[in-house]
Parts: sequence; structure tokens; C-alpha cells
Amino acid sequence: MNTGVPDFLDEDDAIIVEACADLAGRSGCTAWEMGYVDKDESVPGSEDKWYCHIQYAGTRIGVSDMDGPVSAAMALSVKLLRGATCRCGKLVTLLGRNDQARCLWRIVERRWTPSCDVEPIHMPEGSRGDLRRLGEAMDQRQREQGGKR
Ligand SMILES: [Zn+2]
Repeated sequence: MNTGVPDFLDEDDAIIVEACADLAGRSGCTAWEMGYVDKDESVPGSEDKWYCHIQYAGTRIGVSDMDGPVSAAMALSVKLLRGATCRCGKLVTLLGRNDQARCLWRIVERRWTPSCDVEPIHMPEGSRGDLRRLGEAMDQRQREQGGKR
């Protein structure tokens, strides 16, 4: 997948954009796109507006009207992670710390990384971008974990 990280970004900013593209790729999307809409020259003080979109089978998730590529990447990452269920079965949190209900995610070495060490879910061949099958895989994992306790 072409991550399309803009080449004018400094190292720290590029990491945030790369981590977003990586996260999107791991979430099973089929396409990731970042770009901007030219400022409206007729409006004083107008700025270019950035967007970042990802495509799943039949669904598109994205953010737009952002001030730059870093805010677009961060906003999309938060959108993907907030309220999501981590592979360990806890809710993902981006703030604070781990507790019994939440698993803290942060960027480590250019990737969004959970603080648990549960193995990633491997999707069946040909099901990339299929959120329904991802949900089934998550449910399956939950049942297996529940069975062990
Ligand atoms: Zn976790």
C-alpha cells in the first residue's frame, strides 16, 4: 500500500502519518488516501484543507477539513481506535493507563501499539476489508478466551 506520506514533513510528524497508514493497513482496509483541497482564493485567510480516507468493502471512513496532514492522520487514528475493542478484548484507550477495562494504545517505533501482548487476529484469505468477517473473527477470539478461563 502506498502510504503517501508527504515528503515535507519533519521526522516526528512523518511518524504520526506513517503510524496512521500502518494502523489503517492492519485494520484490514483496502485503500488509504491522504490529500488536500486547495484553499479558496476568494476567501481571505483561507487555508488548504486536508483529508484522510480509508476504504473497506462497502464502507469508507475518513476525516476532512483538517489543518494539515498530521492533524488529519491523528484525527483518523483516533477515529479508528476510540471505542474499538483491542485484540485482548478490552476497550482501546489513548489516554491515561491500562486498567481492567481498557488497553492503552500509543505510537511505538512508528506504529500504533497496544500495551497488551495478545497475538494479532489473522484474517482468512480473501476477507481483507470485510468488517463483518473481522467482527466474526473477534467474536471467535472472545469465545476462545472465555473458554480458557
Ligand atoms: Zn490490548
